[in-house]
Amino acid sequence: MTVKKLLTSSNMPQVIYEQKFHDWLKDWAKNKDVERGQSFHASSLIDKNFCLMKAVLDELAPSKTKDGFPPKVLSTFKVGIDVHNKHQQFYAETNMAEYIEQRFYSKVLDVTATPDAVLNFMNMRTISEIKSMNGFEFGKLKDSPKNAYAQAQIYMYITAIPQSLIVVEDKNFQDLKVFLIEFNLDDALEYIKRRRKIMICTKHNIIPVSKRLCQKNGDKKKCKHRVTCWESDLTKLGRIR
Ligand code: SF4
Repeated sequence: MTVKKLLTSSNMPQVIYEQKFHDWLKDWAKNKDVERGQSFHASSLIDKNFCLMKAVLDELAPSKTKDGFPPKVLSTFKVGIDVHNKHQQFYAETNMAEYIEQRFYSKVLDVTATPDAVLNFMNMRTISEIKSMNGFEFGKLKDSPKNAYAQAQIYMYITAIPQSLIVVEDKNFQDLKVFLIEFNLDDALEYIKRRRKIMICTKHNIIPVSKRLCQKNGDKKKCKHRVTCWESDLTKLGRIR
């Protein structure tokens, strides 16, 4: 914390508390592997505002792009992980789970998938994806959330498990909505094509400079490569396309 920030703040206890809390969140993220630094993870393929450049930076130069997630994003992750832990505890203690957070690897796509659990549900092997959302969004939810559906499709492709259970919890009132979905190759292919593009860029050391739509849609402040992407000489990392 800068002395200037501390001295000019009208709410010193909040500044001190937030600084300590943010430092703790960074340590927590490091220990939890929130940044998922070692191998490409399937969940990176399903973003609504997928950025090819971000995915390539993730792979091409992870050690040079350690900007990290902002504290608010880490804090939101933490809330989601706490909800995951509750349902995973339920699976474990009721013997529903075959695996919890087991890593699966696709050699062809060089991608890791980590479903929240693999269950025996209604006598079928089933991927479980657990999501939490605010009460307003939860109230409007009629079908499985798009991001959960997409993530389940790519997980089902990688694991060859044909159905998924999407469990959504309301962060405000802890109500549940549960959706059972089936594998759909056409839907999975969209994400597999993204992975192919990333692999081509990585192989040929190409950084595909995007239109940087993140500035308009608000994703820039959440992107862990935001400093590298906007303020660094990208030619030091690869060929620019
Ligand atoms: S800062 Fe924006 S353009 Fe750059 S990698 Fe991140 S999302 Fe993509």
